[in-house]
Amino acid sequence: DTSHTGILYVEDLSVNFDGFQAINKLSLTIDVGELRCVIGPNGAGKTTLMDVITGKTRSAIADIDGSVYLGSTIDLMTMNEPQIAQIGVGRKFQKPTVFEQHPVWENLELAMAGDKSWHHSLIAKVDIEGRQLMEAVLALTQLESEAYRQAGLLSHGQKQRLEIGMLLMQQPKLLLLDEPVAGMTDEETMRLAELLNSLRGQCSMMVVEHDMEFVAALAGPKGKVTVLAEGSVLAEGTLDEVKRDERVIESYLGR
Ligand code: ADP
Repeated sequence: DTSHTGILYVEDLSVNFDGFQAINKLSLTIDVGELRCVIGPNGAGKTTLMDVITGKTRSAIADIDGSVYLGSTIDLMTMNEPQIAQIGVGRKFQKPTVFEQHPVWENLELAMAGDKSWHHSLIAKVDIEGRQLMEAVLALTQLESEAYRQAGLLSHGQKQRLEIGMLLMQQPKLLLLDEPVAGMTDEETMRLAELLNSLRGQCSMMVVEHDMEFVAALAGPKGKVTVLAEGSVLAEGTLDEVKRDERVIESYLGR
């Protein structure tokens, strides 16, 4: 048990792959409802951090040390990947994965929490609560006009928003997004920033991203940005603060 009040609490995390130290005494706390951007050079340990949080990397493949808690009581290190997904940690990988042959609304229905939608998806009516959630998610993701379209026909940006919508159908406590705007147009990028900004307060998020304009749109002048390098937190502060940090310029931005 810990006494912190955040949604995600990582303390002194170290991850060693067969002698290679991918994460080195990393500590990080994300507040409830916060949208935290994590930046840093390739190889900094960003993906490994997400892999440990979501249960993908466990002691079978690496030496792991340290604590990872969801809220103050849920010890994620004792849980596996399906259990962690089940308790409300959603993860979005770089590439969109949607059910291409199915219409948008059905993608959302299939993604809904609970087993009812999985087992009877094609015949059962979505219950009232589920329908309201779906309508809210369609509005948030700006996909209302595409609800009956086959998901495979959507643009790349729309597919990315749909996949985030699918995660939202599970009403997650924490969403982890790995380079969500890679391959997007400027307009799609700004729409995604709008979507994630609108989720602030309802759901906590950690966004790993290289696109600094997108990071600026998410962090705003006051949001906290974490810079990772060589498996540790190099700097943490507002985007302006970390951009002025000599070590950040040297290890990341200066290149
Ligand atoms: P980032 O996402 O910041 O680019 P990663 O977490 O992917 O960084 O990688 C950190 C380091 O850990 C890299 O040098 C990578 O090669 C290494 N690494 C990641 N996963 C494994 C693994 N399963 N086995 C061995 N080395 C790994």
